[in-house]
Amino acid sequence: MNANLDPEHISNNDLEFEKQLRPLEFSDFKGQDKIVENLKIFVKAALMRGESMDHVLLHGPPGLGKTTLSNILANELRVNVKITSGPVLDKPGDLAGLLTNLEENDVLFIDEIHRLSPIVEEYLYSAMEDFRIDIMLDKGPSARSVQISLNPFTLVGATTRSGLLTSPLRARFGITCLLEYYDVKLLAHIITRSASILNIPIEAKAAQEIASRSRGTPRIANALLRRVRDFAQVKGNGRIDIEITNFALEALNIDTYGLDEMDNKILCTIIDKFNGGPVGLNTIATAVGEDAGTIEEVYEPFLIKEGFLQRTQRGREVTPLAYTHLNKDSQGKQGFFF
Ligand code: ADP
Repeated sequence: MNANLDPEHISNNDLEFEKQLRPLEFSDFKGQDKIVENLKIFVKAALMRGESMDHVLLHGPPGLGKTTLSNILANELRVNVKITSGPVLDKPGDLAGLLTNLEENDVLFIDEIHRLSPIVEEYLYSAMEDFRIDIMLDKGPSARSVQISLNPFTLVGATTRSGLLTSPLRARFGITCLLEYYDVKLLAHIITRSASILNIPIEAKAAQEIASRSRGTPRIANALLRRVRDFAQVKGNGRIDIEITNFALEALNIDTYGLDEMDNKILCTIIDKFNGGPVGLNTIATAVGEDAGTIEEVYEPFLIKEGFLQRTQRGREVTPLAYTHLNKDSQGKQGFFF
């Protein structure tokens, strides 16, 4: 059995759970120190001037805290946040409806902003730049456009694929932040905080173990905590200790390094089909059936950071660690357990 730990997969139940655990202030948000430090200054300056904060672009893989940061920004700026996403904003009218309802200095959060349709994106330019939009009235020969002034607002755009953003859109963000994967220590902190909110007793060693299997991602860490809690309640005494944690992680088939299915598929493909590499990104993408940009921006950074993969001038190459982890010998054959 496999627990669904895809950081992009969120069920309704998970959403409720995430809401409960989502930090609301900078002081509760662990990690990303440089980003938080800078954002705190921009918030303070905006509050001192009584103006809206500059538009912010947050980019990084899923589950690292982009939505959380946008909520924190609104909270710290003491304004409302309206949340939407690129694929939902179908027509300029959808965006106009949202924009005209914003109150002064509010935050508008657009998730997956790289998936905005070009026509909606163009509409956003004047809204971001001059806080104005043009609205078409009537149709046919009597059609005319009127300009509407908007309240000043802060657009927070989030993207996992900054490479897909057009340069005019990118240029309209005054602040750009790249979120990074979390180390085990930080994730253990996040798990301990979540456990205390949920009233789950947890041993430090157990938090550490869950953290090390969470692919550097708080969303996965919280999801794993929840699964391990189920085991602790049913198979143990409710307390999460290292024994029940190891038992649960094994039963759930969680990779010891926290790699997910696609990570392992990429590594296995390079080993089995391309002798460990070097092999070009597009060839890997075709072989695993995933978009090359997604591999480059979403999967590869973690595999490189953890030392499973390297980028060379001739292409991608797996490291000896990948062979050991996947229990393969250097000829790409499955090893044996004795
Ligand atoms: P993204 O928008 O980047 O996909 P989210 O902001 O939705 O990620 O974060 C997923 C979950 O992880 C949230 O519910 C939140 O509880 C948790 N989380 C993310 N970043 C942090 C952090 N720095 N500190 C504590 N919890 C975090």
